[in-house]
Amino acid sequence: MSAVLRVALPVPLPTLFDYLPPAAGGDVQPGCRVLVPFGRSQAVGVVVDTGVEASVGTGKLKRAIRLLDESPLLDAELMQTLAWAADYWLAAPGEAYANALPLALREAKPLPALGEECWSLTTTGRSALDAGSRRGGSRALLAELAGGALSAAELDACLPDWRAAARRLLAAGLVERGERSAGTDTPTRNAPALSEEQQQAVDAVAANLGGYQPFLLDGVTGSGKTEVYLALIERVLAQGKQALLLVPEIGLAPQTLRRLRERLGVPVEVIHSNLAEGERARAWLRARQGEAKVILGTRSAVFTPLPHAGLVIVDEEHDGAYKQQEGFRYHARDLAVVRARALGVPVLLGSGTPSLESLANVEAGRYRALHLRARPGAVRAPTVQIVDMRAQRLEHGLSPTLLAAVADTVARGEQVLVFKNRRGYAPVLYCHACGWHADCPRCEHPMTLHAGRRTLICHHCDHHARIPTACPSCGAGELKPQGQGTERLEEALTARFPDVPVLRIDRETTRRRDAFEQLLGDLRDEAKPAILVGTQMLAKGHDLPNLTLVAIVGVDEGLLSVDFRASERLAQQLVQVAGRAGRAAKPGRVLLQTHHPDHLLLRQLLAQGYAAAAQTLLAERRQGMLPPFAHQVLLRAEATQRDAVDAFLAEACGALPANHGLQIAGPMPAPMPLRAGRQRGQLLLEAAGRRELHAALRPWAAQLARLPSARRVRWSLDVDPIDLY
Ligand code: ADP
Ligand code: ZN
Ligand code: ZN
Repeated sequence: MSAVLRVALPVPLPTLFDYLPPAAGGDVQPGCRVLVPFGRSQAVGVVVDTGVEASVGTGKLKRAIRLLDESPLLDAELMQTLAWAADYWLAAPGEAYANALPLALREAKPLPALGEECWSLTTTGRSALDAGSRRGGSRALLAELAGGALSAAELDACLPDWRAAARRLLAAGLVERGERSAGTDTPTRNAPALSEEQQQAVDAVAANLGGYQPFLLDGVTGSGKTEVYLALIERVLAQGKQALLLVPEIGLAPQTLRRLRERLGVPVEVIHSNLAEGERARAWLRARQGEAKVILGTRSAVFTPLPHAGLVIVDEEHDGAYKQQEGFRYHARDLAVVRARALGVPVLLGSGTPSLESLANVEAGRYRALHLRARPGAVRAPTVQIVDMRAQRLEHGLSPTLLAAVADTVARGEQVLVFKNRRGYAPVLYCHACGWHADCPRCEHPMTLHAGRRTLICHHCDHHARIPTACPSCGAGELKPQGQGTERLEEALTARFPDVPVLRIDRETTRRRDAFEQLLGDLRDEAKPAILVGTQMLAKGHDLPNLTLVAIVGVDEGLLSVDFRASERLAQQLVQVAGRAGRAAKPGRVLLQTHHPDHLLLRQLLAQGYAAAAQTLLAERRQGMLPPFAHQVLLRAEATQRDAVDAFLAEACGALPANHGLQIAGPMPAPMPLRAGRQRGQLLLEAAGRRELHAALRPWAAQLARLPSARRVRWSLDVDPIDLY
């Protein structure tokens, strides 16, 4: 037997590497990590295969330095799934394996101990909380711990800045620090009696526990999907099995985490990218031990080992955040389905606005659809009205109709949400005299005016520039902001409604998340008027029972975009934002300002709802032979010189196998041809069948790195790209 090891190394090359086994011996198995010499240094790799035939003479092979694991760190199922994933996403295999491991486990260090840092209130701490003697971050931490001890990971998820408060409170004897191993708590909250629809959904999935079956749970926000997840997780736990719940972004995790903890009475592991690396590795390892029964996480948590898997759930499955947009460009929802098949468990995809991909899978009989149509607790769906902006006198982009509705709502003591998916003050700063506008020198795209920070910022490359005092082109003194961002709307609404608090929520204001949660918490508990202005961050999260008006300002960019996915995204966004209105006993109202009141998508969405609009969009995709009815792979390239990009793409195109039967678009400049000072181009390959696409592109992808022109560009392959930028 030729005892050669085939190893995946974390490098962007389309190959695995062969080594001789370490001199010290040891039981080297697939899934174990090894330390190997690589170039002039060393690297940690994952053994993919043992006892293979060497691809070069064994005389030339180097010997692995040391075996790092006595038993495989990645089990057979994960190894199989990762091999599949690297092949499917035409990725460098080493990058796929590296993605699966938390950073701390990609180093040649002993595995961290599994005990978990955890924090709880002391008796004095409880009195301090009851007496309300602390403010700000300290009070938030005390309140968070009132329900029982929390691990550092859980605190990271719900109060990102908790450590400073913990130090203060520890010094004052109000909190204490300990270690927790997987124990059981008692649930503090009982499940509500499920509605008939919820019960049907639970029964359908429960009947399939123990076997692979994908389900699409279609129900608007507030329809009770999370209760369905909870009921199913309870069943899985009762069988002693594990459940994995994915959410698209960490902002959504705190509330879900709280609900899981209150209801299940078992520790919940949280895995996401904001977590300290040690914590993340520990959570991952506890899942691998089978000790962690419930794992809640964002995209990368899809790689969590599940030796006793019972169920995989993907919440908000339509969300683009599940797609990784750099390096190993996998889609966590799709990978979750593949894992569920390998694990032999059901996978439940939930959304109020399912992706066209999942709807097509239902139509094709691959997924089973479950519906939640009623919203428990809400009187009725909000009424939606289109406001025709044409020929209206706008005040900072706000129509009289919209302003009157805001005035009425706050006069009743209720809350308003004003939605605009653009940060900053105005997207363009221009000269009224000559038409000059402030462009990013590195992208040739208008820069956004940020008035509060007194600067121009490019939203594509983050280039900052000073606001010119006069027009650099004609010298005229006055430059004007054009269009509206959230900052400008905040200013306009504050001026117009001086007695009502106006809160802006976007990436700029939410850096201080704890302060923010507090503000929103106050709004939830108190029936007082307020105006929230924000980007899509507002579309999700806190339930505000007193929020009765949603005003959507400007959707026209989405209606006019050339991206074939833009209408799907717009429809999803509108439905999600509109769903914020009237979540409790009070009826909600939604206003939609547009210059295109007769647009078919808007009309259908309003008259018939998302499901009908999605069917129309699907029919258009089928007609146009677009995904999900065709399959795409995008080759992107960028370089400082345009000719380097052109040369590479031309060579790549020429290297396609003969008679490949693919549709080719390009080589052509990217929709944004210049970004951050780099010239960008692309080549789009399409086929009706996935199999023929992969058959043609597999050998081609492996060849790209060796093209002479590849050395002068940065390039990447994107299988099933979700945007063409
Ligand atoms: P989703 O996950 O679809 O947004 P949730 O499960 O969060 O919906 O439910 C929305 C609200 O309705 C929550 O406050 C939840 O506690 C409540 N709720 C859900 N199902 C029921 C039920 N069967 N009985 C009473 N309240 C329910
Ligand atoms: Zn000018
Ligand atoms: Zn730029």
